[in-house]
Amino acid sequence: MEIHPITILLIEDDEEDYILLQKLLKRIQYANYNIVWESTYETGLNRMLTEQHDLCLLDYHLGARTGITLIKEARLQGYVRPIILLTGMDEAAEIDIQAIQAGADDYIDKGQLQGALLHRVIRYAIERKKAELERESLLSEKVAAKELEKRRNEFISMVVHEIKTPMTSLKGYGQLLQRKLATGNTEQTSYMLTRMDAQINKLTGLIENLRDVTRIESGTFQFIEDTFDFDKLVDETIEEIQLTTDRQTICRKGRTGQEIWGDRERVGQVIINFLTNAIKYAPDANTILVKTAVLGNEVIVSVRDFGPGIPEDKQKKIFEPFYRHEESAHRTIPGLGLGLYIAAEIVKLQEGKIWVESEEGEGTTFSFSLPIDRKPQK
Ligand code: ADP
Repeated sequence: MEIHPITILLIEDDEEDYILLQKLLKRIQYANYNIVWESTYETGLNRMLTEQHDLCLLDYHLGARTGITLIKEARLQGYVRPIILLTGMDEAAEIDIQAIQAGADDYIDKGQLQGALLHRVIRYAIERKKAELERESLLSEKVAAKELEKRRNEFISMVVHEIKTPMTSLKGYGQLLQRKLATGNTEQTSYMLTRMDAQINKLTGLIENLRDVTRIESGTFQFIEDTFDFDKLVDETIEEIQLTTDRQTICRKGRTGQEIWGDRERVGQVIINFLTNAIKYAPDANTILVKTAVLGNEVIVSVRDFGPGIPEDKQKKIFEPFYRHEESAHRTIPGLGLGLYIAAEIVKLQEGKIWVESEEGEGTTFSFSLPIDRKPQK
């Protein structure tokens, strides 16, 4: 049977001891030891950190410094292999404890060196270290799995909450409608039907967002592209969103006069996301400004609100999936943190750029640009 070789890095400043150890290890049956020798603290440390071996056998005396200092330094620099410290009989007591505290795995008195003992200590140290590393990696896998599970559970409970709220009001309106229809009150029934329609739209939007995200993640997010009038799309989108709010007035400035190539509905979806966020997150303001312009080879749209703004450190993160700024005021505002992520994907896939500018207390401006000269893709 072939015996798997064990490479030992020996750091020992006394050549005689090196020769002795080599002899001892070579004589051991059923083992195949390969010794790599270093005689100084520096070269030893360098080899520990850069070369493959199975275990480090380390002398306590290393010139002006000790093996204990070397163990500490190596562990500090991320050395994970087993270390056994060798000491002379005349060394101070408690070196064994100091060695273990510094990060050694075992300790052998040179005066008691025998091949069999050395072999056993080396094998045990290697196996113990292996088991320890496996336990540690299992533990960190468990921690990562728990973290993922926590985030998934949080997300599911958010989805459930988002679905439950409109469902509850739909059910309530349905029951009220039944009663009102019986009494023939058409004004109230028409109001309720409008509210029901709004809640159904909310649910549909939520489901569409979830579907978009799965498509983005699976690489199957597809566009239906054509040439379209950019200004007309902006006008129509503003008109549609203006119907959903009485409090804020959406004002438009500038025209592009451009026809561009892209997915009209998807580009509209980005503008809708900017506008609905401006309505949601700046509820106390009464104006939302939409500016469109041509800059070089691009059309640019920006939506400015006069709300609380977004802190600088959060500005990059809001384009990440599932990101919701943990501002307490935002916790009560519905949303899954998907809209801007989808918007960013839509813009990127049409070779455009998306960005945010904001100052706390001053409001937020979301913008995107799309190339004018983009051609149909064959
Ligand atoms: P959602 O609104 O569903 O949470 P979005 O992806 O559209 O998802 O937005 C991500 C986060 O960015 C929001 O949760 C909010 O914290 C922040 N945000 C977006 N738009 C604005 C805005 N106009 N003003 C302040 N914060 C905003």
